[in-house]
Amino acid sequence: MRLLITGGAGFIGSNFIHYLVKEHPDYPIINLDKLTYAGNPDNLKEVVGHPNYRFVQGDIADRKLVDSLAGEADVIVNFAAETHVDRSITGPEVFLQTNILGTQALLEAALKHKHPRYVQVSTDEVYGDIVKGHFTENDRLKPSSPYAASKAAADLLISAYQRTYGLPAVISRCANNYGPRQFPEKIIPFFVKRLMEGKTVPVYGKGQNIRDWLHVSDHCRAIDLVLHTGRLGEVYNVGAGNEHINLDVAKAIIRLLGLSEDRIEFVTDRLGHDVRYAVDSSKIRKELGWKPEIDFDRGLKETVQWYKEHLTHDT
Ligand code: NAD
Repeated sequence: MRLLITGGAGFIGSNFIHYLVKEHPDYPIINLDKLTYAGNPDNLKEVVGHPNYRFVQGDIADRKLVDSLAGEADVIVNFAAETHVDRSITGPEVFLQTNILGTQALLEAALKHKHPRYVQVSTDEVYGDIVKGHFTENDRLKPSSPYAASKAAADLLISAYQRTYGLPAVISRCANNYGPRQFPEKIIPFFVKRLMEGKTVPVYGKGQNIRDWLHVSDHCRAIDLVLHTGRLGEVYNVGAGNEHINLDVAKAIIRLLGLSEDRIEFVTDRLGHDVRYAVDSSKIRKELGWKPEIDFDRGLKETVQWYKEHLTHDT
């Protein structure tokens, strides 16, 4: 299978490329990434030079480029996106440009080259928040932030392309990922970096917002299953069932670094801050035989250690 991976220099995309090189070393991979602030070539330094790996710097909204690369591939797996909720609140435009119009350029190319499958890496944030219970794949989309709205718009566009043009697509909607190679603006690497610099960690509101944490390697296995055996036209929720309030995540990181909880600083809450994300992932578990394998305590310990070793002051 020849793959066009987009956004492969970012957090999840780079972990997925490492996973592919190990699990499917015979698959030719083209990685198309714009290298925004969130894309880091160092995330892939171990795979540069691999005979089946090629990097192309470029924009998924560049139709000509996307068209030519899609002609060399069988399947597009789209990770490329603007992903930081806070940035989407202060500057939504680029989120619409990349996450919606960029996705549309990929859909057009997949159709033109008659790809047998297109895989969209989406997020549980498209459903909005839920105080009790879990969202299933059939629940309505009610995104809260411009980021989540742009991802929901892409999901709806894919649904329309399936119905109107017969695009053979599969969508995965995953919970919060953690693990190595994430840009240090997201909570876990951001907190580790701040603590290592002797600073406080800013916790929104009272830190009571709940997130479901999934190790990125468990997400990579889920995408692999969706890529190979996911039913066309379907959506698969990917959740860990591993819910923690943000304050407890902050305390756990502080503990792992051997520091004191007085480093926590409560700051004004994020606008429109979602209270809790939770998806029902029984469909991918039953149909595709997926389940998470990495226990949060172990995964967080290894992740914090990884950032201790890899984060530098100028990261
Ligand atoms: P990231 O921000 O770490 O990486 C995004 C990558 O996309 C970067 O390498 C960036 O350079 C690239 N990119 C951005 N705009 C581009 C463009 N116009 N053209 C080409 N490349 C572009 O993101 P991530 O956390 O790895 O997320 C990957 C995907 O997974 C996203 O679609 C996101 O919505 C989804 N997702 C993320 C999480 C999470 O917890 N991080 C959870 C569920 C779903």
